[in-house]
Amino acid sequence: MAYDDNNIFAKILRGEIPCATLYEDEHALAFPDIRPQAPVHVLVIPKGRYESAADFNAKASPAELAGFYRAVALVARQAGVEEHGYRLICNAGPDAHQEVPHFHVHILGGHKLGRMLGPPL
Ligand code: AMP
Repeated sequence: MAYDDNNIFAKILRGEIPCATLYEDEHALAFPDIRPQAPVHVLVIPKGRYESAADFNAKASPAELAGFYRAVALVARQAGVEEHGYRLICNAGPDAHQEVPHFHVHILGGHKLGRMLGPPL
């Protein structure tokens, strides 16, 4: 599948849709999720045109990979959730209900998040 330049995060990266930037460097941008599901709910996206985790992990350069994953850790620290813990979520594809086809990681924290998905099968 080709990358869709009309996805909402591509528009945010181009400055066509506003976001409350929490962190930005040459490889990554972080902003609050518009529908927060925890007291801290931040999205971190790479600046490159990657539709999914598989796409990013396969095609991004070593500098993009390191820059992005370091930014995730930095943003979690900056958001104040490092001490008590946080959850990283990356929804990839239809079974995971990925809504926006631009790779992103959710950082969730700020209260007890409970079990990951519920009781085991
Ligand atoms: P996912 O299901 O992993 O693709 O999650 C996409 C996330 O993007 C959802 O949690 C949405 O609430 C969030 N979202 C959609 N549009 C915006 C926006 N304009 N600004 C911030 N977050 C957004």
